[in-house]
Order: sequence, then C-alpha cells, then structure tokens
Amino acid sequence: MPRLVILGRQGSGKGTQSARLAERYGVPHVSTGDILRTAVAEQTELGQRAKATMDAGDLVPDEIMLGIIEARLAAPDAMAGFVLDGFPRTDAQAKGLAGLLGAEGLDLAIDLAVPDEVVIERMLGRGRADDTEEAIRRRLDLYEEQTAPLLDWFAGQDLLVAVDGVGTPDEVFARLVEVIDERS
Ligand code: AMP
Repeated sequence: MPRLVILGRQGSGKGTQSARLAERYGVPHVSTGDILRTAVAEQTELGQRAKATMDAGDLVPDEIMLGIIEARLAAPDAMAGFVLDGFPRTDAQAKGLAGLLGAEGLDLAIDLAVPDEVVIERMLGRGRADDTEEAIRRRLDLYEEQTAPLLDWFAGQDLLVAVDGVGTPDEVFARLVEVIDERS
C-alpha cells in the first residue's frame, strides 16, 4: 500500500485527487487542511488557535503541524499507507516528516502541476469560507516561497514525480494511478 505525499498549489485539485487515491488504494486521506477545519468547526483549543491564521491564508506553526501529523500517522489505519495532502508545506515540516517516518518511509511525492490561469479559474468557482481574494493570494505566495522548494528536496531523494494536473478529474486521476502503479 502506497505512502504518498501530494504536492500542489491551492486549486491544483490535490484535495479531490488525494481523496480518490486514498479510496482506490484503501489508505487514509490525511489532509491537514481538513483536520484544521474540523478543529475550527468544533471549536477545540487547536481550532481556536488556528482560525485567524487560516483565515489570513498564513501557515499554522510547524510544531503544531508536526504534532498533528505525528498523532495522525501513529493511528493504526495509517500504518500500512496514507495519502498526505497539504503536508509538508515547509522545510521544517519535510524534515520533521522524514524524522517520523525514517528511511524509506515514503514511496512517492507527486507534484500535481497546473498553470496559474487554471488555478485562478478553479479557485474562483470554489467559494470556501476561507477563500477571500487576499487569502488566496497569500497562500499562492507562500506556496512559491516555502513549499515549492520542497520539490527539489524530494527530487534529491529520487521520490518526486510531476503529474500534469490539467484536464478532467478522471483524466488527472488516471495519470496519477499510472504513475503510482508504475512505482510500486
Ligand atoms: P489547505 O486545505 O491544505 O489549503 O489548508 C487550509 C489552511 O490550513 C492553510 O491555508 C493553512 O492556514 C492551514 N494549513 C494546512 N496545512 C498546513 C500545513 N502543513 N502547515 C501550515 N498550515 C497549514
């Protein structure tokens, strides 16, 4: 069962595709955005701490995110595999994840690649509560600054594959499955 990281900007389709991949391979879909949104909705301590940061499109501190991921990946259902969506987003998170998983703890990091104009078109049609124009712009900037450099880091470990994210959800999904099956 695959242990996957899906990287992609906001609007790349990574949430949708990660959920489908998790179903296909029978592993949990671990979306840090979903975990945080649930915490906000339930008004837990974490949710109360994270809400303003999320609304602004900023990043929740690394140590909080690593705590969330450590707990989630320790659950029995994630032992054999997982699809990580929205994590890691920073250098510290990537290194923390490597420390948690150990050598050969990851099978593949997939860069779901979509050009700017496609991202913007998709984002405008989505209308999530934290999708203000300002927050969207902030998230895209942070992705370029902090998350895009991780592509090189994964590539350096021979874990990175880029998949074209343009097309219908079914087309993109078929490309992803092909790449994953080829690798495992
Ligand atoms: P997402 O659904 O992945 O776009 O996440 C929504 C928001 O949750 C982000 O804009 C961040 O504020 C926060 N978030 C999710 N994942 C992370 C992460 N790995 N590191 C920091 N903040 C995160």
